[in-house]
Amino acid sequence: MTCTATRADGQPCRAMSNLVDGLCQAHHPGRAAEARARRAAGGHASALRTLESVPASELPGALETIDDCKRWLPWIATAVLTGRIHPLRAAQANTAVRAVLNQLESEASMGKRIKALERITASKAK
Ligand SMILES: [Zn+2]
Repeated sequence: MTCTATRADGQPCRAMSNLVDGLCQAHHPGRAAEARARRAAGGHASALRTLESVPASELPGALETIDDCKRWLPWIATAVLTGRIHPLRAAQANTAVRAVLNQLESEASMGKRIKALERITASKAK
């Protein structure tokens, strides 16, 4: 269906609406902030495409262990503060490293719990 709102020039809005109240994204009061955020994110995405990347040789090594993550996070902070990497790139890198860190920490805690269960099982078998 077509949006039921009237545009600033007095003409009916011709945008398609799939919202319950018959308004398009641009005219829906609750969706305006969302639409702005999406446009800003689009701007960020195109900015990122034009960013220079850091050669692998400059990166702080492998990203496979919790200690690696603890080396990467301050590297990212230093790189963004010294202008070596763009803040958007830093935000992405930070998110990625934290995701790896979360994964590794949850695996480590799972390993500890399994060992504890194995100890209990072994002591009951005696
Ligand atoms: Zn509209």
